[in-house]
Amino acid sequence: MSNPALDQISLTRLKGVGPALEKKFNQLGIFNVQDLLFHLPFRYEDRTRVHQIGKVRVGDHVQLQGEILSNNIQFGRRRSLHCVIQDETGFISLRFFHFSAAQKQSLATGNLIRCYGEVRRGRTGMEIYHPEYKILSNFDELPVEDSLTPIYPATEGLQQARLRSVINQALALMEESPDVQDHLPAELVKQLELERLTDAIRLLHKPPIDAPLSWINAGINPGQKRLAFEELLAHRLCMRRLRDVSNQQQAAQLSADDKLLTRYLQSLPFTLTNAQQLAYLEISQDLNGLCPMLRLLQGDVGSGKTVVAALTALHAIGSGYQAAIMAPTEILAEQHFLNFEQWFAPLGIRVGWLSGKTKGKARSHQLQELVSGQCQLLIGTHALFQDEVEYKNLGLIIIDEQHRFGVHQRLALRDKAASNSINPHQLVMTATPIPRTLAMSAYADLDSSIINELPPGRTPVNTVIISSNKRGEVVVRIENACKEGSQAYWVCTLIEESEALQCEAAEATADRLRNQLPQIKVGLIHGRMKPKEKADVMAEFKQGQIDLLVATTVIEVGVDVPNASLMVIENPERLGLAQLHQLRGRIGRGTIQSHCILLYQAPLSEAGKQRLAVMRDSTDGFYIAEKDLQLRGPGQVLGTQQTGMMTFRVADIARDAPLLDSVKEASEIILQNHDEIVEPLIRRWLGEREHYANV
Ligand code: ADP
Ligand code: MG
Repeated sequence: MSNPALDQISLTRLKGVGPALEKKFNQLGIFNVQDLLFHLPFRYEDRTRVHQIGKVRVGDHVQLQGEILSNNIQFGRRRSLHCVIQDETGFISLRFFHFSAAQKQSLATGNLIRCYGEVRRGRTGMEIYHPEYKILSNFDELPVEDSLTPIYPATEGLQQARLRSVINQALALMEESPDVQDHLPAELVKQLELERLTDAIRLLHKPPIDAPLSWINAGINPGQKRLAFEELLAHRLCMRRLRDVSNQQQAAQLSADDKLLTRYLQSLPFTLTNAQQLAYLEISQDLNGLCPMLRLLQGDVGSGKTVVAALTALHAIGSGYQAAIMAPTEILAEQHFLNFEQWFAPLGIRVGWLSGKTKGKARSHQLQELVSGQCQLLIGTHALFQDEVEYKNLGLIIIDEQHRFGVHQRLALRDKAASNSINPHQLVMTATPIPRTLAMSAYADLDSSIINELPPGRTPVNTVIISSNKRGEVVVRIENACKEGSQAYWVCTLIEESEALQCEAAEATADRLRNQLPQIKVGLIHGRMKPKEKADVMAEFKQGQIDLLVATTVIEVGVDVPNASLMVIENPERLGLAQLHQLRGRIGRGTIQSHCILLYQAPLSEAGKQRLAVMRDSTDGFYIAEKDLQLRGPGQVLGTQQTGMMTFRVADIARDAPLLDSVKEASEIILQNHDEIVEPLIRRWLGEREHYANV
């Protein structure tokens, strides 16, 4: 009888796996033997040799063996068990902060021990905290490992040793029945010079003894390349399939009211840039089409995305449909509301407002206007799509600041908004550009329009990096500039998520600056103020009644005061580059030279220095976005909401960027000619996570 396929063999068939352990594996998304093979290590340890104690250095990960010289409990800030071990070349300490009586006893003086861990500088010199260890009766009793030791993603109650033993059994089964299905078409594997699947799996679980760790940890060995390629491909196929489903759906066909558009354009104090016109042209073609638009609108800070959003909204409204604009925060939503009301009220368009804080009568009134169709454009936060919110005929959703929403939220939103089998069009706007590699992966389901040109007459901001030791000099500089008629922002940042703390910090800073600069009019704006208060402060700043505006990061968005030409950002090292770029985009909007001072807290880490240098050296949002991705990784750049989609097992978007073009090509070929492997590939790599594909 031939062997059953590996994905048909249940985990409990393996030695040591009972129903309880099986549940633990299930938690990791592992349901059968083949899944085990795709549970890949995220790093490796070298236990193929025993190091000499005399030669280890702080920071090394080493395997050592020796005789236990002493064993005693030490008291200090924390109670700990301290053992000294010795070999022919020297001695070193082991330290345990958690230990049992039995453990203390097994580490008795005179016993022989082999252990593995990281060497640090401790209380008594070089120490290893909580090494993994074994007590030996003689040193030859236990052979060293013959390949690098893989360290797997684990879960509570599932130890590395157990994982290793179970995965080793799975590997043995793979050698007997090498039928792990290689779904990739042979011609593709050949053309891209990819490793065979089983070879790749073996290489990753059991890297040969001579494979340098750096080579593996850098993710550039052929096994990794093969699997990263397949994983990226699975993700892309998943998103493309979602998109195909969407393309089968019927959308409201919207034909613009040209008169309305013209009236709006004539009311603006400027003409559109070519890039804005082109972006709207692309959008309007989608809106005239039969299936729902799914489009990303990218552009640098200040490139004028809002105007394009307004044209898009007018297109929908002019053809008799409602439009909704959703922003991730109340403050951003408010800014949009003020803008759009100012633009649209003269055109006779009713703009509504809805947030979580809209309560009572105002709320029921708004909901009523919406369902009756009186309200043509609704602006707000997530509240726009709560269950009890009903539209008369929603034709368009615009989402601002996309990268806080994941693909599943994007789709869920559209489904929620769909009624009578008509699906609304969707335009997604990002605050700052998205690196190309992320656009190719996390946004593969969207078409993209890019505004690659700033309105004329802007002067690039000059950015300097200054230590907070020189705060006094900076204050003097602000004073002089304000006396000469400039206006300035002073931005306070805090690591804490707490808005309350941020606001307190801003209040304290404003008080301090008022004392230091009695001749300067200092204003304050933060997220805890009432909308009316904020609007008043902004109006005063706009009219020049405030010289220096102290703010939290609320001014990151929407604020537009061309006369403001100076910005101080405190503790810029705490913010991501995209956010800094977005903040800095508040100045440099007029023709005068603007200056941005990054007032950092010394000492700066090496990474911190690099990041600030990027800000100093460039004002190009697309370049800055790429650097941000390189320096921080996709999880940070996208925010946690995306992790459902963007956690990869082997792939790393920044590192594997060179694969993305061929992934894209391959996915098209597969969708056309090898449809049957789409499902199995998605299931293999995304497993349970792809359920949102079917919402
Ligand atoms: P962002 O792309 O950052 O959202 P905005 O839409 O807020 O940019 O536009 C930034 C500023 O540029 C606003 O004051 C807006 O009125 C102005 N603006 C937009 N388009 C143009 C244009 N074509 N010419 C001149 N100014 C423009
Ligand atoms: Mg904007």
